[in-house]
Amino acid sequence: MELVHSGKVRDVYADGEDLILVASDRVSVYDVVLPTPIPDKGAILTQLSLWWFEQLAEVAPNHVISEDVPAEWAGRAIRCRRLEMYPVEFIARGYLAGLGLEEYEKQGTVSGVPLPPGLVEGSRLPEPIFTPTTKATVGHDEFITFDDVSAEIGAETAGRLRDLTLEVYRRGAALALERGIIIADTKLEFGRAPDCTPVLADEVLTPDSSRFWPADEWKPGGRQHSLDKQFLRNWSASVTGWDRTPPGPQIPDDVVSALHARYADVYERITGSPWAP
Ligand code: ATP
Ligand code: MG
Repeated sequence: MELVHSGKVRDVYADGEDLILVASDRVSVYDVVLPTPIPDKGAILTQLSLWWFEQLAEVAPNHVISEDVPAEWAGRAIRCRRLEMYPVEFIARGYLAGLGLEEYEKQGTVSGVPLPPGLVEGSRLPEPIFTPTTKATVGHDEFITFDDVSAEIGAETAGRLRDLTLEVYRRGAALALERGIIIADTKLEFGRAPDCTPVLADEVLTPDSSRFWPADEWKPGGRQHSLDKQFLRNWSASVTGWDRTPPGPQIPDDVVSALHARYADVYERITGSPWAP
């Protein structure tokens, strides 16, 4: 099979008309892949994505064809429809954190969307908001406005994808909350099918693409206990002398175990099934 793309975390192969999206156990922080793999991570994220695609099927059509992939990738790969991807990261935010918090503190907006005064780190927003970014092939993604997205892909498609992004977020967040997890924000990717319908692609509502917080520990006004990559970002910030450029630091065993436990915990809480590799 032809390797068509090797991302930081996943490898994409072409098999005839289809793509095979293989999730590795690699982990990245600040866009730098660390040298230590996290056992099971690719399988857990793949299985969680598949579960979400099914839950969300009535909200948005998705790219999944099957799990029929070569044996060596079984469990951590998805056979999917090859789409023409929209060059935008479709982000929905229901809570204030990360880059959204930074912009809000500077100018009271997130991605140009004005927000009420008095919000703090971890605050729930009055309504989920759509805060797209560029999908940079090199360097970091940057906030763009809805008008920028319209200019790039047309106003009608932009409006449709904004609505779909917010609806996927609302449904997913409501479902996760029933199971004790706040999905603070998430990044989606959509592609265009040959008949021009927008299709939900890539991975969906995983701890690599979203912020997950335990609902019973949610306390606005500071950093939230995170079940996602924030844990690794926090650890990496404590590594003396690492300036966020390659090569990244080795992850010690106890941190690897803690990460594995978080990924498995998120999978179990959300799907309600035990994680079995
Ligand atoms: P990173 O996510 O680490 O920034 P990346 O996005 O370049 O890196 P991956 O996410 O690891 O790489 O690889 C997945 C790639 O496959 C992405 O470029 C994504 O947009 C693309 N993709 C996902 N689903 C489809 C699809 N159905 N058709 C075509 N491309 C897809
Ligand atoms: Mg990606």
